[in-house]
Amino acid sequence: SVKQLPGNQCAFFTDQIRLQALKETEIESDGKIGINAGQFIAHFQPKVNIQKGNRIVGAEALARWKHPEKGMIPPDEFIPIFEKTGLIAELDRSIFCEACRWLHSYLAEGNQPISIAVNVSRLGLLEPDFIEYYTKVKEQYQIPDNVLQLEFTESLALGDDDMFNHIVRILQSKGFTCSLDDFGSGYSSLNVLKNLPVSVLKLDMLFFRKSVDIKRERIVVSNIINMARELKIKTIAEGVENTETVDFLRAAGCDVIQGYIFSKPLSQEEFGCLIREMGDRAMPLCGEREDT
Ligand code: C2E
Ligand code: MG
Ligand code: MG
Ligand code: MG
Repeated sequence: SVKQLPGNQCAFFTDQIRLQALKETEIESDGKIGINAGQFIAHFQPKVNIQKGNRIVGAEALARWKHPEKGMIPPDEFIPIFEKTGLIAELDRSIFCEACRWLHSYLAEGNQPISIAVNVSRLGLLEPDFIEYYTKVKEQYQIPDNVLQLEFTESLALGDDDMFNHIVRILQSKGFTCSLDDFGSGYSSLNVLKNLPVSVLKLDMLFFRKSVDIKRERIVVSNIINMARELKIKTIAEGVENTETVDFLRAAGCDVIQGYIFSKPLSQEEFGCLIREMGDRAMPLCGEREDT
């Protein structure tokens, strides 16, 4: 027999869908306006090299929406909708421009180059002028080679291997570093690795979450790191929150950590202050840093 929902529960359900749809159209139309009005800003989360004295070696630029009425909106609430509507490619570009602008003024002060990564969505990569645009902006802001990093998600690499690999090779010849984001969160990851020309692998934070058995987690993670090293691919561990994981990852040969254990994403001003303050010194583990 077919199960039937009671009438009122059905009505509740469709109300939820309608509400959700309304919210999505609102976010989309507000988003269009917001991108042009400069409401989207990039926060920078430090990346720390745990093999070289816990020094800051770069940052990832992460989009934040300063909505005029709703306040700060986190990416999870607008990225999936922008991905559906196509607005994501425009957002990617505006965050990229911001990262280049920041780097330009940082370098103009005579500082040593520091790597800044931005996320590139599938739709962004599929824009016909994708390579041309990113290269043009890089040149406009006089950013040296091997400073800008582009993060692509695993699902992207899986869609159309040949095309993706081709684009990555061109980008690398234009002085971009390419990395595979959220590695291990999707499907057939190991198969992808065979032909992948990227030089950095970002281990998804799922590896460091809710493991039933920490021994098994470590076996999996250290073997991925070994495999990457043999393929001449650097590894970044994302979402690391505790000291034990840092110690394990260092011993396992992971190069870089990006996680709350060192720092949450910071405003550009905060990040600028932090690297100037740290210089060549080791980043303290979170909680140990004195407030300045
Ligand atoms: P992602 O690229 O994998 O970025 C890492 C996410 O993990 C960030 O979330 C960061 O704040 C969070 N994170 C880092 N360390 C920790 C930790 O120790 N613990 C926990 N719980 N979280 C940590 P955020 O900023 O909310 O961004 C979420 C996702 O939104 C990003 O994941 C990325 O996929 C997407 N995103 C953000 N900005 C952009 C953008 O400009 N373009 C595109 N296409 N996607 C973006
Ligand atoms: Mg990323
Ligand atoms: Mg990631
Ligand atoms: Mg992610």
